[in-house]
Amino acid sequence: MKRTMALFLSLLLLLLTACGGPAYQAEELKFKPRRKKQKVSKEEMKKLAELEKAGKLKAVITQNIDNLHQMAGSRKVLELHGSVYRNYCMRCGKFYDFSYVKNSTGVPYCECGGVVKPDVVLYEEMLDSTTLAESVDAISRAQVLIIGGTSLAVYPAASLIDYFRGEAIVVINKAPTPRDRSADLLIKDPIGQVFSQIRTEGE
Ligand SMILES: [Zn+2]
Repeated sequence: MKRTMALFLSLLLLLLTACGGPAYQAEELKFKPRRKKQKVSKEEMKKLAELEKAGKLKAVITQNIDNLHQMAGSRKVLELHGSVYRNYCMRCGKFYDFSYVKNSTGVPYCECGGVVKPDVVLYEEMLDSTTLAESVDAISRAQVLIIGGTSLAVYPAASLIDYFRGEAIVVINKAPTPRDRSADLLIKDPIGQVFSQIRTEGE
């Protein structure tokens, strides 16, 4: 495993994670973080931030909406499904933070009377075109694409991989994915476990 990680570190990395998918429940206007089978802890996410700081990791593309990557220090995070940390009044556009929505009972309302909606993509909605374009750009320019913690079941996120033109695809997922056969390196372990073994230089 150590040698494998050394190989990762020598290349430019890009990571696509999709742990959990959108946890936003449209019907209820409530946030229920879905139980994640292959949960990556904040400590392990910090590894990604370290790799980014070292210039190895170029971007994290995620379907998570919980801001965890940013909280762990990652800077370039492309949130395909938006974020519950950005909430806007549907009438006047005023911004509200997560705690406002979390602490409201029932549907959160703006002071103008409009409904406050999180900036997240619901199943029937289109993905944000800017985020999508940036993701395509990042993937098409990456040398290595690490796909982790996702069964690649959600489209169009899963189809983004088709834009990869680089040297190697690494799949880290405990369960089989449709991309296992095209992976140059396949690690069938929980992503959290694999990340915890990453050693950045000087460690
Ligand atoms: Zn308003």
